[in-house]
This record gives sequence, structure tokens and C-alpha cells, in this order.
Amino acid sequence: MYDTLIIGSGPAGLSAAVYAKRAQLSAVVVEKDYMGTGQIAESERVDNYLGLYGESGFDLGEKFRQHAVSLGVEFYEGEAVKIVPSENAYNIVFSDNKVLETRTIIYAAGANPRKLEIKGEADFLGKGVSYCAVCDGSFYKNKIVAVIGGGDTALQDAVLLSKIAKTVYIIHRRGEFRANKALQKTVRNIENIKPVYSAIPVEIVGGKNVNSIRIMHNDCEELLAVDGAFVAIGTTPNSRILKGIVELDGNNYVLAGEDGTTSARGIFAAGDVRTKQLRQVVTAVSDGANCVQSVEKYIAKTNG
Ligand code: NAP
Repeated sequence: MYDTLIIGSGPAGLSAAVYAKRAQLSAVVVEKDYMGTGQIAESERVDNYLGLYGESGFDLGEKFRQHAVSLGVEFYEGEAVKIVPSENAYNIVFSDNKVLETRTIIYAAGANPRKLEIKGEADFLGKGVSYCAVCDGSFYKNKIVAVIGGGDTALQDAVLLSKIAKTVYIIHRRGEFRANKALQKTVRNIENIKPVYSAIPVEIVGGKNVNSIRIMHNDCEELLAVDGAFVAIGTTPNSRILKGIVELDGNNYVLAGEDGTTSARGIFAAGDVRTKQLRQVVTAVSDGANCVQSVEKYIAKTNG
């Protein structure tokens, strides 16, 4: 039986693994994809992680992984499909029916940006299509970009991009934004933000990189010339296997604070999967460390 089983090998999970190793806990990192490092691997360039700016997301993820490997962290490749509570422990069941037993779980399975699922979207990922304005916005200095979506994230992204890009379209499928009123007012007062209402993206178009988005605008087809498309239509946390075991919020994020404590004894949540203000590498790494601290306290309490 492990002291802790870490589900997810992104920055939160790998940080937890490093801290667990240093705390001399018996730990294993469960990863769905062989040598995966999570969403970070898809970011063109990371400029906001202190001390390691300018790295590609892929390289940064590899560095995190190498750090864990160099300390002798144990990895297990498999898809966890079920968590079965037992007295003071949990059995984690995998898709191949194998089972691992652990006293605690650090759940760091992340969240995935919701996709438009239109032609060209996957082909131009990293070549003009991005799901993270904070990460990739700086590449569009004086360029024309579009944000797709009408919620708080989309409008916040548009405000951020308006300080970098020449023109920022907000392509929204309805006639009014969903975002809060204050943000809507801010957006109205920024000259280079141009809302395009009642517009549904149907194709991302380009050569080597994106050069336009095909939209159905008021039921007419149009080609909008852009250099980049920022998709901000929500995220989906990977919390399915926690349903019924751990309390989730209305959007299926795990209800947990900075120490990772959840409604279930011995289960801690780290990274993008938990309720939090800012979903970034820096906060994920911090969560991983905090969760190990919580695991140590939990084990000390349940031992004594
Ligand atoms: P969201 O509120 O779910 O908004 C998603 C937006 O994308 C909606 O405008 C939706 O259109 C649009 N959309 C969804 N699927 C689409 C599709 N297939 N094609 C085109 N458009 C599509 O997501 P979010 O903005 O990421 O926010 C998530 C949560 O975090 C919200 O509760 C939000 O309030 C919160 N948040 C808060 C802050 C803050 O500072 N307080 C910042 C960011 C996020 P419809 O409007 O037509 O449904």
C-alpha cells in the first residue's frame, strides 16, 4: 500500500511527486499517457513561470519530469477508472482491471479546454490556434486576433490581448455576452476590441499558420482575416471518477482550497481540477507542494 497515489503527471502531479519523495513518503504517479506532462506541453512558449521564461511548454514539462525522475519517483502508466474506498484506504482500479492500494490520493488530473470541434482547429494548434491568451498572447504584437466565446474568460482574454494586438475581434454565437456587466463595460470602452455577435465559427483557415476564420454571421458565410484565434469557450475538469466520492462545484471542479483538502478523507486535489482563481503552472506547482503537506498531516493524525 502506498502512502499517497498521485493521479496526473502535469505540473501539479510532478510537483507533488517531488515533495512526496523528499518527505520520504511511498508514492506513485499515475499517468494516462506515457511520459505525459499535461496541458503545458501544448503551450508554444511560457513567459510567466518565474526563472524559466522563454521555454517552450514542452521543454518546461520535460524539465519538471526530469526533476522527478532524478529523485527516483515511481511512475505507473494506466487509466484510473474507479476509486473504491475501503477502511482508511482507497483501491484505485485501472482500465485493465489492475488495482493499486493507497492511504491517500493527490488528485491532479487537470482540466481540458473545451474545443470548438471545427475544421482546422486541431491542425492549427500552436500555429495560430490557442486556448490560453495569458500564455500565448505576447506572440501577437500589432497583429489581428479573434477571441471566440462570450463568457468572463473570453472577455478577460480580449482585454489582455487588446494591449498587445492591433485589433481583437470577439466572436460570439449570440447577440449578447454572458460575461459579467462590469467586464462588458470595460470591453465597450476599448477601441480596438470589436465584438462580432451572432457569429458561429465553422472553420479555421490558413497555410503554414492561421490567416482567417470562416464564420456564419447572421446566417451568412464570411471570412474574417486574423493571425490568431483564441478559443475561450470554457473548460472541462477531469473529475468524472470523483463523482459521488468528492464534492464538486456546479462546473464539476473539485471543491478544495489551497491545502487541497476535499470533502473526502484522504483525498486532496491539486492543479486545474480544483476550484481556484488562476489556473496556471505556477499555481499548479504550488498546489502539488501544499497537498503533500496535507498528506503528511493526515497520515500523522490517522497514525496517532
Ligand atoms: P463560460 O462562462 O461557460 O462561457 C463560455 C462561453 O463560450 C459562452 O459565452 C458560450 O456561449 C460560449 N460557447 C460555449 N460553447 C461554444 C461553442 N461550441 N461555440 C461557440 N461558443 C461557445 O466559460 P468561461 O468564460 O471560461 O467561465 C467559466 C466560469 O469561470 C464561469 O463561471 C465564469 O464566471 C468563471 N470565471 C470568472 C472570472 C472572474 O474573473 N470572475 C474569470 C474567468 C472565468 P453562450 O453564452 O451562448 O452559452
